[in-house]
Amino acid sequence: LTGRMMDFPLTLTHFLDRARTYFGQSEIVSRQPDRSLHRYTYADFSRRARQLAEALTRLGVKPGDRVASLCWNHYRHLELYFAVPAMGAVLHTLNLRLHPNDLGYIARHAEDRFIVVDRSLLPLLEKFIGSVPSVAHIIVVPDDGPAPEGRLDYERLLAAEPGTFVFPPLEERSAAMLCYTSGTTGNPKGVLYTHRSIVLHTLAECMADTFGIGEADAVMPVVPMFHAAAWGMPFAGFFTGSKIVLPGPHLEPTSLLDLMAAERVTLAAGVPTIWLGILALLDQEPSRWDLKSVRGMLIGGSAAPQAMIEGFQNRHGLAVTHAWGMTELQPVGTIARPRHSHQGKSPAERFALRATQGYALPFVEVRHVSDSGEVLPWDGTTMGELEVRGPWVASSYYGDEGADRFTPDGWFKTGDVVTLDAEGFVRITDRSKDVIKSGGEWISSVALENALMAHPAVLEAAVFAAKDTKWDERPLAAVVLKPGQSATREQLAAHLETHFAKWWLPEDYVFLAQIPRTSTGKFLKTKLREDHGDHLLK
Ligand code: ADP
Repeated sequence: LTGRMMDFPLTLTHFLDRARTYFGQSEIVSRQPDRSLHRYTYADFSRRARQLAEALTRLGVKPGDRVASLCWNHYRHLELYFAVPAMGAVLHTLNLRLHPNDLGYIARHAEDRFIVVDRSLLPLLEKFIGSVPSVAHIIVVPDDGPAPEGRLDYERLLAAEPGTFVFPPLEERSAAMLCYTSGTTGNPKGVLYTHRSIVLHTLAECMADTFGIGEADAVMPVVPMFHAAAWGMPFAGFFTGSKIVLPGPHLEPTSLLDLMAAERVTLAAGVPTIWLGILALLDQEPSRWDLKSVRGMLIGGSAAPQAMIEGFQNRHGLAVTHAWGMTELQPVGTIARPRHSHQGKSPAERFALRATQGYALPFVEVRHVSDSGEVLPWDGTTMGELEVRGPWVASSYYGDEGADRFTPDGWFKTGDVVTLDAEGFVRITDRSKDVIKSGGEWISSVALENALMAHPAVLEAAVFAAKDTKWDERPLAAVVLKPGQSATREQLAAHLETHFAKWWLPEDYVFLAQIPRTSTGKFLKTKLREDHGDHLLK
């Protein structure tokens, strides 16, 4: 028997209508390249999003066309986030930290027809645009000055339009956004989000037990809008009518803390390396910023060290929420919130739970499997590859590469090696490409890093596989010490000894000024292996 409820499409068009109807007064604040703040309201935004749609239509944007952005986090990028999908076109966010060759590859692969670029990023665009024959128009966002002569200028295009555009009806399964994985191994792969997947992810993200985002919030995605749609924060913020605070190109700890304090940010989101820098600064100057408005800091993208979660909470009264996700999941899949039943646990046990990757959001289903594909028990110890399925999980890649990541029975293979416990908490031990196999046994780099970063002198630590004649691979630790602090190999080893079996301990420590990072701010272990992989053979 078929039910009799309306088949109302789940599209971003509704977000735009809702914002205009109810939240005209809500604010969007952006830090500009010259550090000044640009602020306007959702009412201004709504008008400009329609002007943008008119301008893009006039330039020839058709349904399904890929409109690429090469932009920092700012209000014009947010305008693109909504106007482009609501027109029926696809916003393709280019990662400005990638090598020009990779950007060229990705833009060619996506067959981008339009590129909207910050003026400050034009020199980067010039390095690869010649290799992208599909591009018909380049539109320059005048972020640090007017567009050069002869170029299409975003503001001039908008100024010429009335802002009365009527967004067309759309199928909820039509493509809205195209995000590429950063491709630290192999070529980047495109993930094509639908309106429906974005809407459902937004609803799940706003739930109280996920990020709990509401109209009274001021959300600040520090995570770039080119990294898995800034984890859906722009959508969730806009959908609920929150104030949205965008840091532009200024991601230094001081600038972010200034913005959080001045704009009364309630929720900010970013990768651990951003927060490690912020924690170090807060430890130096604990009373410089009034952060009483902040009720949560969302951390994901790589494992949030437990010592950092504890440091924020115990020394600064700031609550960190740890989440796991992937570009292929738009990206949030699991979140580490202790449950009501965990209230009786000790603070140490609760911190340990908060440092796991947490349990799955509604509609995300998880399992882990052995190398031979056998589904493994949720016993908290058996390691296997995490697989997921759900309405915001990719069903294939754009262009159909990587078909081997999708199982015949409908699951996506994440490439993360995990344990699952009886309550469903996921603990990542490694990405499969970073696994350390010593004498045939797995050693968890994530667990070792977590413990190392709990040492008072350690700012950052990454543990990776170094070649070893006897054991094939042994763990090697790259360590960055806090300014003015010292720790010897022996002291670090003694610190780890209390937590781990002897054969797990890093074979040696290399002290670095900074750990190399990926384009999305994660520790770049391929580079560590390249630079130091032979360290133990010397
Ligand atoms: P890339 O890292 O290739 O740029 P993604 O941002 O999509 O692309 O990365 C997804 C991967 O990041 C996951 O497969 C996992 O290995 C890692 N990751 C994400 N969140 C966490 C987390 N909270 N803890 C540990 N690893 C994480």
